[in-house]
Amino acid sequence: MTVRMVDLAAQWRSVGDDVLRATARVGNSGWYILGPEVTSFEQELSGWFGRAHVAGCASGLDALELGLRAAGLRPGDHVLTTPLSAFATTLAIIRAGGVPVFVDTDARGAIDLERCADLLSRDERIRFLLPVHLYGCPVDLDGVERLATAHDVTVVEDCAQAIGAVSGGRPVGTVGSAAGVSFYPTKNLGALGDAGAVVAGDPSVADLVRSLRDYGQTAKYRHDHLGANSRLDELHAAILRSCMLPRLSSWTARRTQLADRYRELLTGSALELLDVPEGATCVWHLFPILVRDARSRDDFRRHLRDAGVETAVHYPTLIPDQAALRHVAGWRVVGRLTRATDRAARSVSLPLHPFMSTEDVDVVVAAVRSWQP
Ligand SMILES: *Cc1c(COP(=O)(O)O)cnc(C)c1O
Repeated sequence: MTVRMVDLAAQWRSVGDDVLRATARVGNSGWYILGPEVTSFEQELSGWFGRAHVAGCASGLDALELGLRAAGLRPGDHVLTTPLSAFATTLAIIRAGGVPVFVDTDARGAIDLERCADLLSRDERIRFLLPVHLYGCPVDLDGVERLATAHDVTVVEDCAQAIGAVSGGRPVGTVGSAAGVSFYPTKNLGALGDAGAVVAGDPSVADLVRSLRDYGQTAKYRHDHLGANSRLDELHAAILRSCMLPRLSSWTARRTQLADRYRELLTGSALELLDVPEGATCVWHLFPILVRDARSRDDFRRHLRDAGVETAVHYPTLIPDQAALRHVAGWRVVGRLTRATDRAARSVSLPLHPFMSTEDVDVVVAAVRSWQP
């Protein structure tokens, strides 16, 4: 018996019959890409976010790239972002022609808004801010909005891990000019393959994404933009809308229940837990903890593995330290990345997914508690 990080086979046992019905519906329709299923999914997701416009696309990476372009990013624009995220966050900036600028994170591992404020008041070249709602925990949306207004920067939110998270009464994805969502299978709302979406308040942003995702067409065989092929399949849209989205609230509630149990049972242990900000609702895409001493992390993970508990690290390497950035001009780190470096060295993610049992949590907690650093 292993307590796994994710269990998509268990998800299939729950949704499989519905997925087969959706598959038959799409197969019988004879229409497989960008059709009525995509439109219905976009409409339902828009209601879910409480934001007027959604444009589906092929991945979370594409959603961020096309979202940045549709929100007005021009090649050479500087984009302030976090060093601690999936590489896709920065890759999207670079692919859109932007220049990433990194500042340190706060105590929770999200971009430090005070550092952002300080830098934005000194550097007028920075035109965009790309915060990541990491682990499913929202960045302070009021704070982001204040920064955007005070310094006239355009915000694009990375909501890949945080669908449904709330800050100050507002869901993530509602403050930026655009927000990117990923439906990678392991995300809180996952397809059976790759898919993504851009959420936007302004119809012109969503319209531009719709053009960019389809070779930059604005009408049949008329290409006003240099776009991509980032179309969303009818099949993924049908599965997401009719099988996954209706279950998202109960899956999130289950994640929260399990996270609460972890938090109750691990308080007072040798591990640091994520401190959820006041007035925020976290959707627990991941359950990260910090070991006291970075040098003991491998031993901690080995101990858990031997007790039948999978773990992961999100993320072991900061984005500015990735070799791929050697081929990119102009990007920079401002100040020291002390907190981000520390978190990358000490972080461990414990298993958390909606198909875990309460007993699974107890197995993990017992393994954690029996570890001698
Ligand atoms: C998964 C993820 C992405 C990229 O999404 P894909 O669908 O895999 O392209 C971007 N940012 C973050 C924070 C993610 O977790």
